[in-house]
Amino acid sequence: MSLDVLAIAAHPDDIEQTCGGTLLRMAEMGYRTGALDLTAGDMGTRGTPEQRLAEAEVAARHLRLQWRGNLRFPDARLENNIGARMTLAVKIRELRPRVVILPYWQGRHPDHYHASELGYEACFLAGLAKLPLAGKPHRPFKIIYASQYVPNVLPSFVVDITAQFEKKLKAIFCFSSQFSPPKELQNLFPSRADINARMGSEARHFGHMIGTRYGEPFIMREVAEVDDIVKLRVKSI
Ligand SMILES: [Zn+2]
Repeated sequence: MSLDVLAIAAHPDDIEQTCGGTLLRMAEMGYRTGALDLTAGDMGTRGTPEQRLAEAEVAARHLRLQWRGNLRFPDARLENNIGARMTLAVKIRELRPRVVILPYWQGRHPDHYHASELGYEACFLAGLAKLPLAGKPHRPFKIIYASQYVPNVLPSFVVDITAQFEKKLKAIFCFSSQFSPPKELQNLFPSRADINARMGSEARHFGHMIGTRYGEPFIMREVAEVDDIVKLRVKSI
């Protein structure tokens, strides 16, 4: 398999929340997209891993993903160790993505920043020809970081997801074990309406940065190249 874009994240539903609109937009443009969740969320208060895996499958259809997998690494204690790096590197060789989307390298949940570092290092290892790993060496051309969970960090660019936003929400709400808690837990967890409002205001915030209704933010370590400064988008403020 050879994907154009592969998103890697710690927990099922992280990808939907941080880059679901962008993945769907890329699929609508004809690109082959995929998602790899590193854990099944075994430590989550709500739902079983099996439930979350089944929910991820349904969400994948809303995002029109060509491929989705889960490495079943231990949730809430995700580690960037050599075993995890090698396993992930083999997967990257199998999927051969040109672009990889990773979580931003800082955040509140340790799994998120461990996933970021683990993903970055696995992309590097996957390209080393002499490493005793299954598959043909492959190093993704580009790594970008989804930064929606860290809204105080200025993104390098924002993708307009106005046309994809409703479907992104649908994909998020496929994880009903997370977002539709049983009655007795309802006062402990945010309601669906609260999450809807939060997702809406975050997407509006980032959309506003580029003059559109809804957006998803990304960070890259490299500088962007521009060919035509006359066609630069986003009006000066
Ligand atoms: Zn997460």
